[in-house]
Amino acid sequence: MLETRDLNFKNVIIIEANESKLPALRKSAPLVPHEVTRLLGIDMALREEELQRHLFYRLLYSASSAHIIYEENSGKERSRFLEELVWHEEKRLGRIGAIEARRASFNAEIAAPGIEFGKTEEICEMLKKLRFSATSVNTYVECPLKFYYTYVMKLEEKEALTSDVEGNEIGIFIHELLEKSFTHFINKKPVINDDFRKDVLSSFEKQFKVEFAKKLGSSAFLLERVMRHRLESFLDFESERCREVESGVKEILYLEQKFKPGLKLSGTDFDMQYVVDRVDLLEDGSIFILDYKTGLDAHKPKATKKLENMEFTRASIKENIRSFQLPIYYYFEKEKYPEKNVNAALYGLRNPKLTYFIDKNVDIDRTMEICLKSLDYILHEIVDLSKTFARDNSDPESCRYCPYKTMCR
Ligand code: SF4
Repeated sequence: MLETRDLNFKNVIIIEANESKLPALRKSAPLVPHEVTRLLGIDMALREEELQRHLFYRLLYSASSAHIIYEENSGKERSRFLEELVWHEEKRLGRIGAIEARRASFNAEIAAPGIEFGKTEEICEMLKKLRFSATSVNTYVECPLKFYYTYVMKLEEKEALTSDVEGNEIGIFIHELLEKSFTHFINKKPVINDDFRKDVLSSFEKQFKVEFAKKLGSSAFLLERVMRHRLESFLDFESERCREVESGVKEILYLEQKFKPGLKLSGTDFDMQYVVDRVDLLEDGSIFILDYKTGLDAHKPKATKKLENMEFTRASIKENIRSFQLPIYYYFEKEKYPEKNVNAALYGLRNPKLTYFIDKNVDIDRTMEICLKSLDYILHEIVDLSKTFARDNSDPESCRYCPYKTMCR
């Protein structure tokens, strides 16, 4: 509404004149917390409401005619500005209920029913030649339609020229920084001392300036503080982990390494690929695979007992296996080190934490048997001519962050 302040209109239509939109008041202030402004005797929320009220009335008085539309149901109330307007009119006309809203309704299909695409022989041939990764298989398990848009249609999000930093940009930044910093410990025991910390933090500062400082402008310092704090916590955690007597790190074997193995499942050869963030040799002689996670979406298969009861359908695999990432890493790395104990973990970098693939609830041989059977099922379903790429919108969170959500409505 601010942008209308110098304009006059013939017709004005205000939609969503509901509380929480009109006025739209922020619950928290990112720079100066409300507590601080309150202590200074400034009520920012009240000022903001007054400003929006002024703009609302200015917009109405600038127009020859105005239509105000709001939604009314158990979860939504009409705007307080509208209540005021109605109250003034009722007082003027001397009658409660003098202003009556015209009611309108329409049937709305929130999502188009059953969007799905079939396969042609050519598509099947292309799919058989595809090099599958844990990410592509997980995408199919999450939603076959999303897989279709990504790997068959190869639709990509247009790179937005905005000043926002996306979660995946932070992920790439951290992965690159850790690879660069730890690379001189390859085939050596990592030592997280003061010199190493200084080097990592100085590389962080330099890289941050190049990647984000210009893009974010004056607000960059907030992101920098948060990332720096997390990096420092990670280095503390890593320092402890490297020093452990039995499970300490003896040497780093490789970082961000890409492998392209083949996988034969039920007589069919599939091309696979995976990139491991880091593989360590531990003091007890075992192999430890690490998958850094900068976001919240870190999943591993459920406990073996739960997997024992699962059905071999995509929906059940989605619910129980959840992600093929650790099973795929484990399977191929174990092939390289058949004599050694191997474990894998998701390494959460927000609050440094390891989530182990093999723990007390996991019978690894049985879990891997079920994971491979599930992978077999999914890969065969992907290349099966009779199976369609159907939409799975059962998880609202996935759809919310899906780049194709507008194509699904
Ligand atoms: S919006 Fe949801 S249903 Fe549509 S493609 Fe994305 S994940 Fe699938």
